Amino acid sequence: GQRNTSSAPDLTEQTLIAVKPDGVQRRLVGKIIQRFEQRGFKLVGLKMMRVSDDLLAQHYCELRAKPFYPSVLQYMTSGPVVVMVWEGHNVVQTSRSMVGLTNPVDASPGTVRGDYGTHVSRNVVHASDSLEGAQREIKLWFQGEDLVTWECCDRTSLCEP
Ligand code: UDP
Repeated sequence: GQRNTSSAPDLTEQTLIAVKPDGVQRRLVGKIIQRFEQRGFKLVGLKMMRVSDDLLAQHYCELRAKPFYPSVLQYMTSGPVVVMVWEGHNVVQTSRSMVGLTNPVDASPGTVRGDYGTHVSRNVVHASDSLEGAQREIKLWFQGEDLVTWECCDRTSLCEP
């Protein structure tokens, strides 16, 4: 939960969402994008790519000492990912609840992982876990010019102006 001291809700908060290689293989990209669109968030960055070992090591710098890190590295670099930046009021926290808990066995039905996840090591999506994490990850995955600034015509319907 990010507190906003001004009276207007912060619609510019951003988070990084990635469809992992299993999600791409299983043709789930469209369904995942649709969930974020339907929730009223604004897509400001989108690309498909293969992840280098180096980028993944930076992305998961906190996990590098974990016993499962080598298998995460192998899995995440095994095929293309689709990485996105979504923007909107409380998007970081809302995305985490839309994505569900890390292990699909614990993830509630209705969440991405609760609906599509098959195993903790095949949990379909990544979502930044904090505002600071999101800012760090967006810088890592996107160059400034790859993010698109645009005005939503329904801005005032999405959030109290
Ligand atoms: N992971 C795994 N085995 C584990 C724990 C995590 O393969 O025992 C993978 C899993 O795909 C997870 C990722 O490592 O999404 C990053 O773990 P983290 O604890 O940051 O979970 P997340 O923030 O993705 O829910």
